Amino acid sequence: MGYSYDDQNIFAKILRGEIPNTTVLETEHSLAFRDLYPKAPTHVLVIPKGPYVSYDHFAAEASEAEIVDYTRAIGEVCRCEGVDLPAGDGFRLISNAGEHGVQEVPHLHVHILGGRPMGRMVPKAD
Ligand code: AMP
Repeated sequence: MGYSYDDQNIFAKILRGEIPNTTVLETEHSLAFRDLYPKAPTHVLVIPKGPYVSYDHFAAEASEAEIVDYTRAIGEVCRCEGVDLPAGDGFRLISNAGEHGVQEVPHLHVHILGGRPMGRMVPKAD
């Protein structure tokens, strides 16, 4: 079964300019903008411009140019935000997918979180 992309999701609307965003970086194939409800001093979302639901979808179907652009955009945002190593104190990348990943917006995004210690990665299982 193939991946199914809903073009009414909120990040698709941001890409079409239908709703505003606070852009941090825009490249040929990627857009980075501030999370509307930041969970840390640095909380930036990086999305590909193409219609990909999740990281696995992107890895399977994106072109090499899109993958290189996206990977470098994530690194560039870390540098711009001053959380990159060794200059800064580090960061966490999170990409939620599907029901078990608790993904709210079905357009691939990486969260870049930093500016404070981020704590445990996930709660321990019972
Ligand atoms: P996820 O649970 O990984 O799908 O995360 C979706 C993220 O999108 C959440 O952190 C929200 O705070 C964020 N978000 C939702 N709507 C917007 C918006 N219009 N602009 C920026 N971030 C948003």
